[in-house]
Amino acid sequence: MNPPPPTTELRPASPPTSAKPARPATLPKSSKQRHPVFTGSATTKAPSRTRRAGHAPRPIVADALGALGGLGFGLTLALVVINETPGSLASPGGWFNAAGRLTGFLGSYLMLMMVFLIARIPWLERAVGQDQLVRWHRRIGGWPVIFIALHIVFVTLGYAKMDGVGPLKQLGIFVMHYPDVLASMVAFALLVMVGVTSYRIVRKRQSYENWWAVHLYTYLALALAFAHQVVTGAAFLHHPMSRTFWIAAWVGAALTVLAFRVSLPLIRNARYRLKVVSVTEEVSGVFSIVCSGQKLSRLAVSGGQFFQWRFLTRGLWWQAHPYSLSALPNPPYIRVTVKDLGDHSGSVARLKPGTRVFVEGPYGAFTHHARETNRVVLVGAGVGITPLRAILEDLPTTVDVTVIVRGSNAEDLIHRDEMAALVSQRGGVLHELVGSRHKVKLDAATLRRLVPSIATSDVYVCGPAAFTDHVTATAARAGVREERIHTEVFAF
Ligand SMILES: Cc1cc2nc3c(=O)[nH]c(=O)nc-3n(C[C@H](O)[C@H](O)[C@H](O)COP(=O)(O)OP(=O)(O)OC[C@H]3O[C@@H](n4cnc5c(N)ncnc54)[C@H](O)[C@@H]3O)c2cc1C
Repeated sequence: MNPPPPTTELRPASPPTSAKPARPATLPKSSKQRHPVFTGSATTKAPSRTRRAGHAPRPIVADALGALGGLGFGLTLALVVINETPGSLASPGGWFNAAGRLTGFLGSYLMLMMVFLIARIPWLERAVGQDQLVRWHRRIGGWPVIFIALHIVFVTLGYAKMDGVGPLKQLGIFVMHYPDVLASMVAFALLVMVGVTSYRIVRKRQSYENWWAVHLYTYLALALAFAHQVVTGAAFLHHPMSRTFWIAAWVGAALTVLAFRVSLPLIRNARYRLKVVSVTEEVSGVFSIVCSGQKLSRLAVSGGQFFQWRFLTRGLWWQAHPYSLSALPNPPYIRVTVKDLGDHSGSVARLKPGTRVFVEGPYGAFTHHARETNRVVLVGAGVGITPLRAILEDLPTTVDVTVIVRGSNAEDLIHRDEMAALVSQRGGVLHELVGSRHKVKLDAATLRRLVPSIATSDVYVCGPAAFTDHVTATAARAGVREERIHTEVFAF
């Protein structure tokens, strides 16, 4: 093996820490003192009674849900087509009205699909990952607005022809005499507003909270659109199959949201009753928050997963932010590590012990279940090291592990001692690449040198977006197959 670059600090895994009899952990007295439960050493596992392993993803369920979505799309098209008759098409404005019905139903169906994608359905979350679901949700995003805009144009033209009036007059008749159509116009305006604020350029210029609050109007838009479909949708009213299909689709979407976005989090939080126990500065601007809760041994979570965290204190209770666990739960304790990047992440440093916490999750597919091989390379930088720390703890002992952590200074390496202890316990290899990125390069040659078996390994990457993109491309150049490169990006 070639010697490492001069500015690269290579830390071989240190010998295993001694296994003293464990004592139940007590709370740290000051916020500068690290919570003793999560040091990565075997001696600190004391408080843990049994812990439930995270559920393995079941791609078959996700495939079945995908197939159901495709079937629904086919049915939407088929029901529109079979409900048209030569007579209805030949009547004045018949083709416009048919096109209006097709675009209206397609728009409604895609809107419901978008709701299902972000309904936090656990099987989908585990199999696909929330980042991918959000990407699909966004990709579909513009189409319902386009279809519904076309629906308004076609139906106005169709009815104008039927009534022998101009399109503008017809639009006025709709607004003045059809209350549900007026409601649906409001729904459309809300959808356009949500669409515009979600557009990449506009979204970047506003706070996440603002974007999120505007997004809530989608649910109002859906309720108004539903009223319109029930009252005016000709195919909906007169054809039992259409009626059954659309009622099932709307009720299914509403129940799914209620079940997974409302009831499940409420039930879980009533069970776990999380409270802040300590806040500790790990490195400058990065804080670990340890919470304690009840029955946490029943919480099934995998290393690498995240929760939406809502700290029930003044100024923070109304916003939930995603943070990954920085260690596996050690009942009754659970921990996240947060870097101060803005108003929410900056406020966590001031959380007081005893603050109640409401979490939603666990979410995410960045777990050891995603791997295909028994050789794993974990590559992290900055606060991205934290989920890797939890994955490391969760990997079966039969897996060969190499950890590569990157930082400008050794002091920037978050959970440095814990990583070293965990790597050491399992006989893995730890490489700390310390120095400026220009001097200490993480290119394909370096990767191959540090991990000779890289091409036949699974690679997990987490860090700043540019770092993650760079390591992903570098791993691919070093011969790692695309499906064996697993990433978590800390932004949706
Ligand atoms: C799956 C996932 C896991 C994460 N895990 C961690 C972690 O373990 N530790 C950590 O320090 N950070 C983590 N983050 C990043 C963290 O959520 C953001 O840094 C934090 O929400 C910033 O909020 P803010 O109000 O402090 O800053 P802001 O200035 O409001 O935001 C800074 C950046 O974070 C994005 N952001 C803000 N709020 C959210 C939100 N609720 N959901 C998604 N993106 C948001 C913004 O778009 C912006 O790009 C994670 C993000 C994701 C998506």
